[in-house]
Amino acid sequence: MRHTLPETYLTLDDAALAGRIVEAKRALGSRLVILGHHYQRDDVIEHADVTGDSYKLARLGAERTEAEFVVFAGVHFMAESADILRAPHQTVILPDLNAGCSMADMAPTDDVLDAGAALERLGITDVTPVTYMNSTADIKAFCGERGGAVCTSSNARSVFEWAFRQRGPDGKVFFLPDEHLGRNTAAAMGIPESQIVVWDPMRPQGGLSEEAIRNAKAIVWKGCCSVHTKFQLRHVADRRAEDPGVKIIVHPEVPREVAAAADVVGSTETIIRTLREAPAGSRWAVGTEFNLVNRLARQMPDKKIAILSKDFCICATMYRISPQNLLWALERLVAGEVVNAIRVPEPTRTWAKLALDRMLQVS
Ligand code: 13P
Ligand code: SF4
Repeated sequence: MRHTLPETYLTLDDAALAGRIVEAKRALGSRLVILGHHYQRDDVIEHADVTGDSYKLARLGAERTEAEFVVFAGVHFMAESADILRAPHQTVILPDLNAGCSMADMAPTDDVLDAGAALERLGITDVTPVTYMNSTADIKAFCGERGGAVCTSSNARSVFEWAFRQRGPDGKVFFLPDEHLGRNTAAAMGIPESQIVVWDPMRPQGGLSEEAIRNAKAIVWKGCCSVHTKFQLRHVADRRAEDPGVKIIVHPEVPREVAAAADVVGSTETIIRTLREAPAGSRWAVGTEFNLVNRLARQMPDKKIAILSKDFCICATMYRISPQNLLWALERLVAGEVVNAIRVPEPTRTWAKLALDRMLQVS
């Protein structure tokens, strides 16, 4: 059943919201863990018990078995993954069920099944499917069922290497749903551009000739993140022109040419670690979500940290998790009611778990 946020929560001021969240957390004690992705807004992340990138949260969420309730301050695919990895006695809750991901939406199940069938028709069987964590449970299950795995931005290379080991020297990776993470990972492994092809689901046979598919090492799905594709090469040039000493660090969801021009490419955890370890006085332009960059700039006043592009690079769906719906979900738990539980049905869950477990083993 779909629950909606009662209007009374919308009139509370910031102090009341924060105070009541703290109270509800105290009442639930060790029965509750709140997981917060780094892109969450400040007034939500301050209540998270664990913060991290999608890999760290998937791993740590699965380890927190003492908590009966796992409240995910993140987006739908993350909560689904937590549900797939949870212990039987746990329930995963997403405070707003509309907190989705535009990238995950770009790989609808039917389109991916059609692509798999098209490859089979061509007799191309030496393919290991790999999906980015940022995909639906159905797509993770597609990979699990076909000998593939999930990856995140922090372990994509290890999972690609594992995938190639599964099929021998002529093997291929079929990567979903982010063209840019796929390209950036394949390029970092030394795969030439000519052997990285983009499967466009809107065109017959992905818009590719049979020869191009046969010759490819990496077939990458034409999907992208609406936030990270805003970073362009001209932003790198502008920041370097303003300050020749600036270092550019970007998330691997940015377009290939931006990643190639950057000094460091890495997941949100890598970005945070690199900036923390950087010397005082160093200057950084960061190509990732605005809430995280802003927070890092505030936490490290001894360094100059700014967002790479002046455009509005905010993840609107992450932003849907608010103190209002977080408080509501927690207060319902205190009252003994679960709202907005995420439950992945069988057999999707079993196949998707296989793909997630392979990732956890590889890395
Ligand atoms: P991670 O660095 O956590 O993989 O984050 C990327 C992202 O877009 C999460 O939605
Ligand atoms: Fe999806 Fe991009 Fe938002 Fe991540 S930042 S949740 S990939 S839209």
